[in-house]
Amino acid sequence: MGLPITFLRSSSIKEYLDCPLRFFASYCLGLRFPSGPSAISGTIFHEIMEELAHNKDADLDELTERIYKKHIDQIDPARIPKTYQRKTPESSVRTWVPLKKVKNSIVNVMSMSPRSFDVRHMDVLRTELKFDVEIKEPWANYSFELRGKHHEGYLRLKGSIDLVIRNENGELEIIDWKSGRSEDMSTGEPKTFESYCEDMQMALYSYVCRKYLGLDISYTTLVFLNEGQCFSVQFDDDLVEERIKTIWQEIQSCDRPTKNDSLFCQRFCPYSKSCFDVITTKPLVKPREYDWVNEAGLLEHKTYRICGQLWNYFVGGYTPMQVCEALMRDNHNIDQYVNT
Ligand code: SF4
Repeated sequence: MGLPITFLRSSSIKEYLDCPLRFFASYCLGLRFPSGPSAISGTIFHEIMEELAHNKDADLDELTERIYKKHIDQIDPARIPKTYQRKTPESSVRTWVPLKKVKNSIVNVMSMSPRSFDVRHMDVLRTELKFDVEIKEPWANYSFELRGKHHEGYLRLKGSIDLVIRNENGELEIIDWKSGRSEDMSTGEPKTFESYCEDMQMALYSYVCRKYLGLDISYTTLVFLNEGQCFSVQFDDDLVEERIKTIWQEIQSCDRPTKNDSLFCQRFCPYSKSCFDVITTKPLVKPREYDWVNEAGLLEHKTYRICGQLWNYFVGGYTPMQVCEALMRDNHNIDQYVNT
């Protein structure tokens, strides 16, 4: 038996392809970490675009300020790093998640050339389209025991699609807003059109819409909010299904989730930290130290990174199921992704 998984989302597939160990920590153990300022700005932007798509005459400045305020009011000022702290909690939060960044993203997408992504001028069919579909194929079947509970069924595909529009050519198109950078996690190099042709997030959206939701999608377009860049790609349903099947079979037979371990992954991955303060759950593994002789020949005590601590279990001969039995977050629901 491989990893105890019952569903895949576009983000979980990406996480698995980037680093199976990170996928294991997030989706099998249920570790969670709070969103950083970039992700919060992205969420605010998404909500503004969603509301604007339904209310095209809205006052954009008022709408932006209202949604921005709603989100920053929910941020605990205690989370804000020292360098961003100002005289009042509100000014600290506003410095950490600047309104200007959200406004810049809006200007960027609306003024992109030759194609603007102003939702007010688009024929919007759906916003934030949630899906949860079951693949009733023999290859998608699973069955496992975890903490005394039997899990059996077929793989489910879940997710949420930012926007479905009818474009100027009368074709259905999926649009996805991206607040992150368009770069490869392992190398730090900018991604290319060819790499987006392999992108499983958009491939999954296109496949699910066409096969399960009755939406005959022609194109999928990724729009990078901060870089003023977009990529439009078409996908072949049979090839996408084949890739989902291959990934699922790998997950089903995985006995040791490998780790990415590139220099670049450590820049943003919360599991690269050596303490659990960044995680919203209690420490699951007692931080372990090891001795290290530094360049000056002096002995230092270092603490393993979170993912290094998890990796030690596999090196020690534990199976993924045994690690889950021991370390899975108590309230983790293996059938559902909850980002808290
Ligand atoms: S720090 Fe790198 S190797 Fe470790 S879990 Fe994150 S992506 Fe994987």
